[in-house]
Amino acid sequence: MFCAIVAGSVPAFKVVDVPEGVGFLDTRPVFKGHVLVVPRRHVVTLPDLPIADLPGYFGLVQRVVTAVPAALGSQGTFVAINNVVSQSVAHLHTHVVPRTKGDGLKGFFWPRTRYASPEEAADYAAKIASELG
Ligand SMILES: [Zn+2]
Repeated sequence: MFCAIVAGSVPAFKVVDVPEGVGFLDTRPVFKGHVLVVPRRHVVTLPDLPIADLPGYFGLVQRVVTAVPAALGSQGTFVAINNVVSQSVAHLHTHVVPRTKGDGLKGFFWPRTRYASPEEAADYAAKIASELG
């Protein structure tokens, strides 16, 4: 499924699409503006990613971690990778979740919300994408 997003055959609210990978909105965000960053190469878990790909991939993750608070006015981010357990899609993805003190996120309980409309999701994607431009 994420390979199809990388290939462009499945639509997504993309925030960045570069040789190092693709970032797009999670359709069931913990908080709105929650981005998934995936490598273009199909690998399932972090240990599967070739070491040579680490600097490019995590460089992109770092760019998204910088862009999300700047775009949305959040104070910070939570960054996470599930490997196998709790990994809903078998293609490596790093969660970048906007965080602000008092937002109610506790430990590893991840409440999920929904965008009110495709237009709202597109607006979040556009804000983050503009920081990554
Ligand atoms: Zn894949």
